[in-house]
Amino acid sequence: MKVVCIGAGYVGSVTGTALAANGHQTTVVDIDPDKIDRLNRGESPIYEPGMDTLVPELIGKSLFATSSYDPVADAEVVFIAVGTPSGADGSADLRYIKATAEQIGKRLSSDHFTVIAMKSTVPVGTAELVTTLLAETSGLTAETHFTVVSNPEFLREGYALEDVFFPDRIVIGSVHPQGLQQMRQLYQSFISREGYERLTPHFTFTYDLNAPRANYFETDTKSAELIKYASNAFLAVKISYINELARLCEVIGGNVQDIAAGMGLDSRIGHKFLQVSSGWSGSCFPKDTSEILSTSEKYGSELMVVKAAVESNERMHMYVVEKLIRRLKSLNGKRIGILGLSFKPNTDDARKTQASFIIDKLLERGALVQVHDPQGMGMFRALNPDLPIEYCHDPIQTGRLADAVVLLTHWQEYREIDWQKLASLMRQPYVLDTRNFLNPNEIQKAKIHYEGMGVSEHL
Ligand code: NAD
Repeated sequence: MKVVCIGAGYVGSVTGTALAANGHQTTVVDIDPDKIDRLNRGESPIYEPGMDTLVPELIGKSLFATSSYDPVADAEVVFIAVGTPSGADGSADLRYIKATAEQIGKRLSSDHFTVIAMKSTVPVGTAELVTTLLAETSGLTAETHFTVVSNPEFLREGYALEDVFFPDRIVIGSVHPQGLQQMRQLYQSFISREGYERLTPHFTFTYDLNAPRANYFETDTKSAELIKYASNAFLAVKISYINELARLCEVIGGNVQDIAAGMGLDSRIGHKFLQVSSGWSGSCFPKDTSEILSTSEKYGSELMVVKAAVESNERMHMYVVEKLIRRLKSLNGKRIGILGLSFKPNTDDARKTQASFIIDKLLERGALVQVHDPQGMGMFRALNPDLPIEYCHDPIQTGRLADAVVLLTHWQEYREIDWQKLASLMRQPYVLDTRNFLNPNEIQKAKIHYEGMGVSEHL
């Protein structure tokens, strides 16, 4: 099929690449010329495992990139995958969606039926809004010449290609017969064994071809829009809950790791998203919880559980700072090393991460901060240009004259740190592992005081 994907970010570039790998003639459109140039040079516009092998294989064959919206005129399916950040009042800012709709509308053709598929995470009612905008700018009749369907994206950064090729679910929100039919046709190769067999050579990860296929779920547009927010808010609640249990364990005794393992054995609960941390963060959970809360309040049906999870999460970020104060007494003049600026490993995405919140609080209290991240330092620096912190190109250097080193993001390479060497650089040998990820024995062998999360000091 002829497909256009508007937006070459984490969602758009990966979706476009995966569609092109499935044989669809796919053009990625972005207003950022740098991202388009990178794609045309055969490079990934974002850091995401697997993209650096797949993009050069496909570019110029089934994958194309341009700053022009003109390919919309011939497309059978146009994905919208532009950003939907939080506005000042906490609700989603739809300015990029509206600008995109205007450009698409100017190019819609009456020659054939076009499906506009909303991949961006958007509030309930946005498909209706975009339908109106498209009808106004194109002069065409909605549901006769085009339809807008909701197709929320659930990929995880760091596993994005894997998630797009092998999703747990594909959700389509539409009641339009041709809209539904074109989306089924588009996704056919994603949900058939033949499609997967053809794609296997492209994968940089292993996958069992006999594993169950994605659930293909069709519903109405508003429900599909809400499924995305409801899912992210639910996961945020789950993480906040285990983090609160971690705090409780530290005062009454118990080990949160064992509690999570024991809870997860119940298939109704499951093991996933029960890993303790310094709190959830990143480019999705904060804005998505904020939007769903804002909408629920607007309609007088507040999601109280989600509200509590948001408050609890901020408390968890702060808890890391409090743990440091408990150990170091005062933070004034203390030097703190931070391992990890991205919101999770295997991504360079450093938008709205727990690191920026925690670093702000440390600086407010007079600490000196030195940081490392394998991929996220460039974006973190660009987003926080005025932060008076030192960027280290080697994780060991975060220990230089430090009074504490704090692991925030569990990058695999931090398990390989030479703790003897790091200890030799530190002023006070103390490591706070907010993910319970490092090997405490190795760290203690280096005569460093190791502290995890959610494990009572009394055990
Ligand atoms: P992103 O910021 O990485 O990418 C958005 C891209 O859209 C940018 O490259 C930007 O230049 C481009 N853009 C903005 N306005 C444009 C316009 N008028 N025309 C063409 N291009 C334009 O964002 P992202 O992380 O890919 O997220 C996109 C959407 O997908 C958001 O709604 C997000 O909530 C949702 N989402 C993200 C993830 C994730 O893990 N990142 C997962 C699921 C859903």
